[in-house]
Amino acid sequence: MAVADPADRSVVLVTLDSCRYDIAVKAHTPNLDRLGPLARAESPGTYTLPAHAALFNGFLPRPVSEFLALNGDRVDAIWRSAAARAAKRHAAIPFEGPTLMAHYSDKGYRVIGVGGVTFFDSTNPANSLPALFPEFHYFGRLSRTPATMATRVVDRDEVLPLTHTQRLADLCLEAERFFLFLNCPSTHIPYTTPCSPLTDRSGELLAVLYRLHDSHGSASGDDVLAAEDIAFLLGMQRRALEWADARLGDLFSRLATRRPLVVVCADHGEEFGEGGRFGHGHPHPTVSTVPLWCGVLGGG
Ligand SMILES: [Zn+2]
Repeated sequence: MAVADPADRSVVLVTLDSCRYDIAVKAHTPNLDRLGPLARAESPGTYTLPAHAALFNGFLPRPVSEFLALNGDRVDAIWRSAAARAAKRHAAIPFEGPTLMAHYSDKGYRVIGVGGVTFFDSTNPANSLPALFPEFHYFGRLSRTPATMATRVVDRDEVLPLTHTQRLADLCLEAERFFLFLNCPSTHIPYTTPCSPLTDRSGELLAVLYRLHDSHGSASGDDVLAAEDIAFLLGMQRRALEWADARLGDLFSRLATRRPLVVVCADHGEEFGEGGRFGHGHPHPTVSTVPLWCGVLGGG
């Protein structure tokens, strides 16, 4: 049977916000692992806005191996913008046009964006990322509500887009071909999911971690996390990734008959004090090193 050109497939592009590479190595992710081998990659951005600006121009986090395995084929890149400098790199899908969304819209795909973290709040006109989509569905906290501990250290269910996989799959399947972008905030602080609700201990540690994020390394002496506290918080991100994997498994099974090309990566990672700071938005290997999986659902 002839293998369909990847350029003609529907697409599912997922960002696991803030997910560290080392956490992806430790997590149990059977659905992501079915796509292909986990690649160690380097993001061009240290926080959500620049990382996605590059991503939407086809510049995914670059694998340190310099190539990707896409259903047995070795490719240097999935997408390659005509704006990229001349090179002999082999991209699976070269494209013209200013963004992936414009490219797929021009080809007649239904282009759907879904978020996520507050940079994707489509009700805030200051947000440029959701405006790049003809259709955007935002489930997260409104970006213009005050960011207090009471609004940040919370249990999360309906605000997580992957809670809504049936609705999202139905939107895709209404179209002959689709491009679905999904920003997944479960791996972003506070790391809570329906399978890992807040506890007294996690609530206290998350409040300290938020203060450390906000202080950019100049926290008061009271805000100290011991090694076991950091291990506990990293374990929260691992469970948040495992929840996302299970929900992505549900989404993949709903979309498998279309055999879409699937790319899943983090936009950036997160530092937990390894270089003296916490969070992201600054250069450090724990921030720039991210996981990446790709493949075609249901084989080639
Ligand atoms: Zn992000």
